[in-house]
Amino acid sequence: MSVDVVDSHCHLAGEEFEGDLPEVVQRAVAAGVSGALMIVAADDDKEHERVAAVEAAWPGVRLSIGVHPHAAGRFADEPGRAARLVEDRLQGMEKARAIGEIGLDYHYDFAPREVQQAVFCEQIRLARRRRLPIVIHTREAEEDTFRILAEEPAGDAGGVFHCFTGDRAMARRALDAGFHISLAGIVTFPRAAELHEVAKMVPLDRLLIETDSPFLAPVPHRGTRNEPALVVRVAEAIARLRDTTVEAVGQATRQNFDRLFNP
Ligand SMILES: [Zn+2]
Ligand SMILES: [Zn+2]
Repeated sequence: MSVDVVDSHCHLAGEEFEGDLPEVVQRAVAAGVSGALMIVAADDDKEHERVAAVEAAWPGVRLSIGVHPHAAGRFADEPGRAARLVEDRLQGMEKARAIGEIGLDYHYDFAPREVQQAVFCEQIRLARRRRLPIVIHTREAEEDTFRILAEEPAGDAGGVFHCFTGDRAMARRALDAGFHISLAGIVTFPRAAELHEVAKMVPLDRLLIETDSPFLAPVPHRGTRNEPALVVRVAEAIARLRDTTVEAVGQATRQNFDRLFNP
């Protein structure tokens, strides 16, 4: 059995891939990566313009569109404008399957926290209206994230905590709230002991894997530009931790991906 995996979070329309997109896609497909969820920043016109080229180069790509918490400050005067922008973009995006990445980032605090929260809420409402799952970015903002998810409530939209880096207790909360958990290359780091425990505890039918490329290259590629082909390294690390095969991890995460994003 050959490996078949999906990268459930990458930024292939980023400028980092402008020069060699066909080769990047070719390497992914050769590695057994049959599809991906590409995150598109709704407020970035240039990135939006590059979407068509990625779709043409890789038919297995599906799209998620949203305003990242880092960019929330641009909508400080009127957070509802962020959701309207996302909804406008959705019009022309036949392959859009999710709203995201959206959420809270208190590590960088690029936008005031109240503004991040308001922009997050508005986009959750949009996702519920459009019956689309959400891709959640949360960093050092656990309490506010779960409070907002419960208040909105976002559970019926469903979705995924992307690039999960929390502990087992937080994973439990995310699962209990009805969400999937997506692990990135950090799980390949030898010292990520708590994340290794998370990788063992998440039920196989709630697990996704991702690269978050061009960010977060896995071992042994740390410090270089990440790309979707390397999601196989993530699957391998999880297979080792769970004492199963990379094929089994690939198959389960592919099924979860299809159920969540690919109707
Ligand atoms: Zn993120
Ligand atoms: Zn991302």
